[in-house]
Order: sequence, then C-alpha cells, then structure tokens
Amino acid sequence: MENLYKELGIDEDVWQLGEKICECLKERFTEIDATAEYNQLKVLQAMQAERVSEACLSGSTGYGYNDLGRDTLERVYAGVFHTEDALVRPQITCGTHALALALMANLRPGDELLSPVGKPYDTLEEVIGIRESKGSLREYGISYAQVDLLQEGEPDYEGIRKAITTKTRMVTIQRSKGYEPRKTLSVDKIGEIISFIKSVKNDVICMVDNCYGEFVERIEPTDVGADLAVGSLIKNPGGGLAPIGGYIAGKREYVEQAAYRLTSPGLGKEVGASLGIMPAFYQGLFLSPTVTASALKGAVFAANILESLGFQVLPDGKESRHDIIQAVTFGTPEGVIAFCKGIQAAAPVDSFVSPEPWDMPGYDSKVIMAAGAFVSGSSIELSADGPIKPPYAVYFQGGLTFPHAKFGILKAVQELKNSGIIRL
Ligand SMILES: *Cc1c(COP(=O)(O)O)cnc(C)c1O
Repeated sequence: MENLYKELGIDEDVWQLGEKICECLKERFTEIDATAEYNQLKVLQAMQAERVSEACLSGSTGYGYNDLGRDTLERVYAGVFHTEDALVRPQITCGTHALALALMANLRPGDELLSPVGKPYDTLEEVIGIRESKGSLREYGISYAQVDLLQEGEPDYEGIRKAITTKTRMVTIQRSKGYEPRKTLSVDKIGEIISFIKSVKNDVICMVDNCYGEFVERIEPTDVGADLAVGSLIKNPGGGLAPIGGYIAGKREYVEQAAYRLTSPGLGKEVGASLGIMPAFYQGLFLSPTVTASALKGAVFAANILESLGFQVLPDGKESRHDIIQAVTFGTPEGVIAFCKGIQAAAPVDSFVSPEPWDMPGYDSKVIMAAGAFVSGSSIELSADGPIKPPYAVYFQGGLTFPHAKFGILKAVQELKNSGIIRL
C-alpha cells in the first residue's frame, strides 16, 4: 500500500500522518456507516413498496405521457422523504432551478418570503431579487424579509416573530451553511424553527433548501414539519450517477404548483419525457446513502488532518455533521492554491491539469476551483473551491468513495508540504 501511495506522489511522512488520523476515526466512521445502513434500508423500502420494475428503467420520448419510470421514481422519492408527493425531473436543471421553481410556483404578487436563518445561498439572491436581476420574485411584486442568526448561530426567535406579518406566505430555510461562516443546521434545529414559525402563523409554507444535506442524518427536514424539501441531483441524492436534475418533495398541493410552473398550467406532472435518464436516477438514489457516507468520512478526515496541522476548520474535527461541506481556513492565497492543486492532482478525470485562480462571473474576487469529475460541476464528487480573498478559506466536499477522498486530502497535504507551507 505504502509503495503504491509513494508511486502516486505521497511521501512517507504524509502517509504516516494519514494512517495515524484514520486510526483515531474508527468510531466516528462506524457511526457514519450505521447511518448509511439505515438510509440504504429506507431507500430500498421505498423502491420495493413502489414495486420498481425493469420497465421503470426504460424511458419515454416526446410528451412523455404515462411514463412509468418517471412517475414511479417520484413516488419513491415521496416514500424516502415521507411526503405526499415529489417532482423529480431532468428538466429541473440544477439546485438553484429547483429552489426557484418551488418559490415562484407557490408565491403570488403581494406575498412575502422570509428567510429566518440569514442570507441565503449566493445564486438565490438573484432569484429573490436581493441583487437586482431579470425575472426575480421582486419583479413580480413578491417581497423578501430576512432575520439573521444570532452570534452563536442560534435562530433569533423574537426577531422571527416580529418579521412574520399577514403578508408572510413562505419561509426558506437553508440547511447547509453554503459559503457563509455559520454552522449548518441540524434537522432537529430545522424542526424547532418550523414549529416556532407555524405557532406564530400556521399557514406559512416552510421550504427547506436541502442541498448537501440528504442522507447525512437518519431523518430529513420533511420528517420534522417542512412542507417542501428541495435539492439538486448532482449533489447527494444523485449518488454521483445522475448527470442532471433536481427534486422537490413535500405536500401534494405545493408540489403540484411546482409541476404546473415547470411545464404548464393544465399539464403539470403529466408531461416531461424522461428520455434515457431513469437508470441513472434510480441507481444514483440507490447508491446515495453510501456515497454520502463516503463524502462525510472524507470531510471528517480532512477536518482532523488539517486541524492537526494547525489550520482552522469548520466544522471542527469532533463536531457532529449535518452536511458534507468542510471549510478550511489557510490564511494565505498560497495555502488555498496548494490545497486545490492537490485535490485536482488526485482526480480520475483531468488529473494532469493545474487549476489557477480566475475571475469567475458573479464573484467579487478571483476564485480557484479543483474538480476532476465524471459529471461536470458535480460536487458530490471530490471537489474544492476557494475565493482568493481573506480569510483565504477553501470549501471542500465530496468523494464518491472514501479511498478517493482520502487520497485527495493526502495529495493536498503533500502539496502544502512541497510548497513549504507546512512542515512534517
Ligand atoms: C449548491 C447549492 C445550491 C444551488 O445548487 P446548484 O445546483 O449549484 O444550482 C443552493 N443552495 C445550497 C445550500 C447549495 O449548496
């Protein structure tokens, strides 16, 4: 083993450190495996209950009327999330699209959307109209209110109570921290926030942005009162196999609204050919619990090894996890760049290219990204990105298998060592 690592550019010191850290994580990994086991059974149970058959794996074309695979898969998702209904489509192009769809479908002019957990994910700013953009909710006369989390990352319940008015129709709760320096919310905490909101105004639609959170815990936001859970299939629930897609699971009424918005009033869920995508959607969902567990182990391994090297990590090495994102603060551009180069060098695809910081559209600083993925932009696959600005942090996620995630992190540590940023 050590020789093979050596051939792949990992020296003895880095390898030894990796082994030492892995040794300490056995208990942690056993816990993650138990969650994966539970969620694997949950997915299987839903697939069996809906009698998934070979016929479900072939696709429709054209209008896609009576697409057995598509309709059954949507019932499987509803089964997994314990909801009345779900919309799971390749025509939902990404996570942002799924979230925009759920919002635009369920809000009407004069309504207000509330985020009780601070600023939402960057791309949602343009959906809502926080940053001016064409076609935003704001353009349609839908207003937005926000209550920031308190210093310790706790919800500001008094602030939320005051922010709920007769206009408040929908609430968006982001589970993952995204690029914010806050903690990711546990499903229990999300349940607490939803209960509070419903106690103030019980007809508010509570939507959870579930991106990066699926299958990290045994329960999902829809198990604790969320009316809608929304996410991307090129993150956790696609299991690395889905090449596109998004899902919206929840109360039938709200899912239906989303279907009418996605296709057309009058058509809703009845149209939308699945083409040849069903095998990837089914098999991806089937693999998702163990793939998510692999990514989670990678994040825990990264937190512990980088913490041992003196870097600030969020979540820290010991904390419980509610999504698959790991943030590491390097404090210097060189640290960010070296880490990303290491991740790239470990990739199965494009391992020979060297990522460079560039001026990406929509960002206010240069950004460096490492991704050598089978599915372009997939962040359930091993990937990292870091804006080149203080505090010089990298956001790291994914890994379809733990050995790959481990190798990527060892490569990153090696790169930090080779460029003189750390000494072992
Ligand atoms: C990734 C992500 C999104 C947006 O998903 P895309 O597929 O990139 O459009 C929204 N919210 C959160 C928390 C995310 O992590």
